[in-house]
Amino acid sequence: MYDIAVIGGGASGFAAAVSAKQTDGRLKVVILEKMFRSGKKLAATGNGKCNLSNTNITAKNYHGSINAMEIIGKTPEAVDYFRDTYGVLCVTGSEGRNGGLYPRSNSANTVLSAIRLKIQALGIEERCDFEVTKIEKIKNGYKLYSKNGEVECRRVIIACGGYAGPAFGTDGGMLRILKDMGLKSSKICPAVAPLRVAPESVKGLKGVRIKGEVSAYSGGKLLRKESGEIQFNENNLSGICVFNLAYLFQQYEGKLTLCADLFPQMTENELYEYLADSVKNDRADYPLEEFLTGIFVKNLAIYLVKKAVGRSLDDRIKSLRNGEIRRIVSLIKSLEFEVTGCSPWQNAQVTMGGILAECISDKLEAVKHKGMYLCGEILDVAGDCGGYNLQWAWSSGIWAGRNCALSLKG
Ligand SMILES: Cc1cc2nc3c(=O)[nH]c(=O)nc-3n(C[C@H](O)[C@H](O)[C@H](O)COP(=O)(O)OP(=O)(O)OC[C@H]3O[C@@H](n4cnc5c(N)ncnc54)[C@H](O)[C@@H]3O)c2cc1C
Repeated sequence: MYDIAVIGGGASGFAAAVSAKQTDGRLKVVILEKMFRSGKKLAATGNGKCNLSNTNITAKNYHGSINAMEIIGKTPEAVDYFRDTYGVLCVTGSEGRNGGLYPRSNSANTVLSAIRLKIQALGIEERCDFEVTKIEKIKNGYKLYSKNGEVECRRVIIACGGYAGPAFGTDGGMLRILKDMGLKSSKICPAVAPLRVAPESVKGLKGVRIKGEVSAYSGGKLLRKESGEIQFNENNLSGICVFNLAYLFQQYEGKLTLCADLFPQMTENELYEYLADSVKNDRADYPLEEFLTGIFVKNLAIYLVKKAVGRSLDDRIKSLRNGEIRRIVSLIKSLEFEVTGCSPWQNAQVTMGGILAECISDKLEAVKHKGMYLCGEILDVAGDCGGYNLQWAWSSGIWAGRNCALSLKG
């Protein structure tokens, strides 16, 4: 019988196992992983660079019923945790969102290797190809069933993730098992994911990337505004700022409008004055399709003029009327898209929703099942894009592992 079995060899499961063993080195700890190899998702994070945390973590970056900040505040800062526990040095990334923390190596695989070394050094066992399909309460703990055998343990830590990225082993199966055991989950939907729009509304824009601001509205009410890269695809919008608005689609029952400001550096009037001037200057004889050349990439420049004026783009710039310039400016400052759907789980990075706060104690122990701890994305916490989800995985893992180990003392 193991003292602790951690179900799920991902970010939070690793942190939980290491933390439990560091709390009490005598404990017999095993990680049970469904895939042939653990840590598959971790190796893919941050486009293979692993955006493992952020230097600017606030309550605003977390959504869900659980107070993530309270638990993050009880655990070491990521820079210290990675240096002291795994010998991984971190730097603030130059790309992506401000404050994103990355390993100095810029490689997620080195983070995974360093964690593996620590797991081996601490004598934590690992069993892969071991998908837990049933959890049964026994006299002194739990019995975990898989098609490849059974494991008995005094305590169990559930670190199985949610539904996002099923190719990495996370298909929501454990959430269904927990619901059958009486734990309650909030509404689930993809987060940190692209948002679908009608293909006609983005025709000609495929592949365009631009830095701007995106506001999300429902029923005319502004819900959230994000800035960063916007990426146009064949039938969806993506990029960090769109990713961070994705969870709103289901929350507002499919009634979501995105409004992009493609030139936040100028007000509508400033932009109008600048563009109205070019009708009179030495570019006045250029064709209309060149009106926004020098401001936007070609596809976007043509898309905006075409949509606003609706006449031949061979006409000269000097033929533009004030009303038409106003319409172009208004499109640049508030280009609207009705969201038609959220992307499938395969394209989502995070699960919005999970086991509710009311089902767990402040030690992350299941209220209904003593000796069962939970951590990571399976809980009702979803962070923004930018390292916030891995930070939650580390912190909740450390906290669950420590409390679980302490519960076995004495
Ligand atoms: C492509 C991609 C890129 C991402 N990039 C970033 C990033 O750069 N920064 C960031 O902060 N977040 C990122 N995320 C999100 C982040 O990876 C997750 O939030 C985080 O890994 C969740 O950790 P976890 O331990 O809860 O679950 P996971 O890391 O998903 O691990 C869960 C593990 O449990 C295993 N498992 C599931 N069910 C069972 C079962 N029944 N029995 C046994 N094992 C089971 C799974 O196979 C998996 O290995 C990204 C996600 C994706 C998909």
